[in-house]
This record gives sequence, structure tokens and C-alpha cells, in this order.
Amino acid sequence: MAEKLIVIGGTAAGLSAASRARKEKPDMEIQVFEKSGFVSYGACGLPYFVGGIIHDINELVAINAESLKSKRNISAWIHHEVILIDPEKKEVSVKNLDTDRVSIHPYDKLVIATGAIPVVPPIPGIHSNGVYYLRNMEDGIRLKAAAKENGRVCIIGGGAIGLETAEELSKAGLSVSLYEQFPRLLPFLDNAFSKALEDTLMKRGIKVHTGTQISEILCENGEAKGIRTAYGENEPSDIILVSAGVKPASALAEKAGLALGLNGGIIVDDEMRTSHKDIWACGDCVQMKNRITGKPAYVPLGTTANKQGRIAGGNVAGGHDTFKGVLGSMVTKVFELFIAATGLSQEQAVREGFDAISVSITKADRASYYPGGRDNHICLIVDKKTGLLLGAQGIGSESIPGRINVLATAITCGMTVEEINELDLVYAPPAAPVYDPILIAASQAM
Ligand code: FAD
Repeated sequence: MAEKLIVIGGTAAGLSAASRARKEKPDMEIQVFEKSGFVSYGACGLPYFVGGIIHDINELVAINAESLKSKRNISAWIHHEVILIDPEKKEVSVKNLDTDRVSIHPYDKLVIATGAIPVVPPIPGIHSNGVYYLRNMEDGIRLKAAAKENGRVCIIGGGAIGLETAEELSKAGLSVSLYEQFPRLLPFLDNAFSKALEDTLMKRGIKVHTGTQISEILCENGEAKGIRTAYGENEPSDIILVSAGVKPASALAEKAGLALGLNGGIIVDDEMRTSHKDIWACGDCVQMKNRITGKPAYVPLGTTANKQGRIAGGNVAGGHDTFKGVLGSMVTKVFELFIAATGLSQEQAVREGFDAISVSITKADRASYYPGGRDNHICLIVDKKTGLLLGAQGIGSESIPGRINVLATAITCGMTVEEINELDLVYAPPAAPVYDPILIAASQAM
């Protein structure tokens, strides 16, 4: 009989695992259980669906369940939730969410790719109607239906998803207020960068309230009607969007007795194997490793989930690929401002015991005489003792992500700022200045 792989979760990590296992083992039986109504969707596109750049939600789907069967011989069951894993009997109990019927499915190998769930802040009234989240396709459909032109929205949480959705809802004609409990937006960013981000939002009419906790969701007959801040101020609102971070969806794994670590993330080894020999886990549900410090980290991002899924799928099929860890490289765009970061912030670096300095520069993204240039602000976080680059952040034009990618490469290769300063980078007036902002920043940090 063919060996059977069951995968729990049918998006980035889960389908990467299933697809890689299929490639390595054409005769394996592969079954994916997905509790939502969609597989293989790009959650990262949801803010743009809500705002209207993406018209049809199906555009976010890379491959649907029918094509998975016909093209990859992977059987994906949507609306099926795995409610129990029995590692000793090697079987899962699965509930059909359309009929409530529970069935038992045996496996030889299991991959857990259950992703993350939104953090629900303990605020009175948070469970009322009219409080929304943006995690999966159904959430996106619900939020878009509620987001009427001239409506009012309060967003709780100034992370990347809160910011992207604030922009999109504002462009769709809603009046947007953004509340962040920390003193600044994206608090890992250099102070001046966070301030520039806040200014950009305010200039575009979004009301930004940093250092402001929400103490209550104001309700009438179970319907959310607004928020009250810890300062006692009330703001009426039609929609409350909670975007206060996520945590690993690891309850099933915990119930199955698997070891959990930071934030409740499933502990896996470098081959993505859990504490049980026949069970692998990948994506937002696992604890990760910081590539610089070697310590546990939790940075739930799309590329990491896809890569870990590929590795888990290959190893399920007998391989021994390893995942080396994360730098936490991220990028987001808020109106005309691109913001990207990689590695440690200065605060993190100091906390980790580095004698870390940070050096910031501002330089046009092309030759100063060439029209259309915009400033790039780059900040490097450097270990003073060794000159090693520990982190980099940038805000500015669309060239920022590329520059931060170069610096992520430099960190991965263990480069010092002297070595970065020697890089042979491109130059032509419409594309970059003679001395690229990366070179200017590195020379200043030496
Ligand atoms: P998920 O995508 O969460 O998938 C897990 C799946 O498992 C879900 O579909 C869930 O329904 C299913 N599931 C859970 N439990 C069960 C169960 N018991 N039975 C059956 N099925 C189950 N990352 C970036 O790198 N860049 C971005 O720009 C970016 N933007 C984002 C924007 C938004 C709005 C969101 C929500 C996320 C964004 N991310 C971004 C993060 C990225 O989408 C995630 O890191 C990635 O989707 C994680 O993939 P995953 O497969 O681990 O988990």
C-alpha cells in the first residue's frame, strides 16, 4: 500500500509541503485538510482586495482544490477541520464543517501547517458584532462587505497589516483612525523612520493615535459602535478592525502532546520535525530560530512559511534539508513610502549583548540631476567591536526593498561594514547615484 501523508492546513506552508512531497514521491497518497473554504490563497493580498485594487477574491488563489487533484494528484478537502491528532494510533479526527460529521483518517506521516490566529486583546466588548479581523479569505470578504464609502473605521494595532489596511480603506473613501498602544508605529523601526511613517499617514487624512490603549469597545445591543481610549475619549465607528498581531495556531499540537516553545510555537528541529518522529510542522505555527543570535524567534511571514513547507515536504519524503533560520526581513508600503527592515534593531542588538551602534544616512535614489529622484533613508545597526552588520532599515522610494535585500544578503554572509563598503554596486543616473546609499551608509558606519 502507498505511504500516506496527511497535511493540516492548505495554504502557504501546507501546500508547499504537499507539493514538494508529491514531487519527491510520486506514489505517495497525499491528503490536505483545510477548514476554510479556500486553499492556496495569498493572505498578503487581502488588504488590496478589501480596498478594491483586487476586484475578485479568487484572484488571490494560486491553485484551487480541483486543480490540485487534477494537476498534482493532491486531494484537498476544504471545510474540513482536524479536531484531534492521535500520534500513537497515527490518525486524525476530522470534522466536516458543512455536515458536522466526524471521520477518522490514518496517516504514515503528518505535517502540521495550521498557521497563526489573531491575538484578541482582552478589551471589554471585543466579541461584539462589528469587530473584524483580517487573517483569511472569509475575513476579507466580511470586511469588504462592511466597508462602505463614507463609513468610519477604527483600527486597533499599527503593525504592517493595520497600516496597509488603513491605506486601502482610506483610499476606498472611509474615514480611518489608527490606534497603537506603543509610542510609535512599527516600534522596531528607527525613531525618525516611525515618525516619517506617521507623518505620511496623517498627511493623507488618517488619524494616528500612538501611545493610546483602547479600554473598551462601545456597544449597543451587542453591536460595536465605537471605541473608548484609556484616556477616556470616545470615538464612534462603524467598523472596528483588530490588527494586534498573531500567535501560533498550536492548540491541536499541544493536545497531541507535542513540545511547544516561544509564544506557543511548535518546537521543530532544523529539518522541521517536531518532538514526534512522524510529525513535521512548518510556517506560522512553529517556533523559528533567529539567524543572528541562534535564539528562538517568532516572525510569521509568507516566504518563511513557503520555504519551511518545501523543506518539511522534502524531508517527509526521505530528504534531510535544513532551514537555517530567519532574519525577520520585512517590507511594507504605505502610500508613497516603502519601509523595509532586516536583522536586529538597535534595541534588540543591545538587549542581545552587542555593543551596537546605529548610523543613519539620507541620499537620493538616483543621480541628483536626474528628474524624479526621491530620498532613501538608510539606517545600519553595526557591532562596534567587529564591524559586523547586525541589522538594516530603510524608508523611501520603491528602491528601498532592493537595497534592504542587499543588506540582508550581507548579514547572511557575515559581512562587515568595511566589506560592504567595497561592494561593486551599479550606477547610472536614472537608476542609482554614483555612490549607492548602501555604500554611503557603510562608509559612515566604518
Ligand atoms: P496560514 O496562511 O495561516 O494557513 C494556515 C491554514 O491552516 C489556514 O488556511 C487555516 O484555515 C488552516 N487550518 C488551521 N487549523 C486547521 C485545522 N485544525 N484543520 C484544518 N485546517 C486548519 N507575509 C509576508 O511575508 N509579506 C506580506 O506582505 C504579508 N502580508 C500579510 C497580509 C495579511 C492580511 C495577512 C493575514 C498575512 C500577511 N503575511 C505576509 C503573512 C503570511 O500571509 C503568513 O506568514 C503565511 O500565510 C503563513 O502561512 P501558513 O501556511 O503557515 O499559515
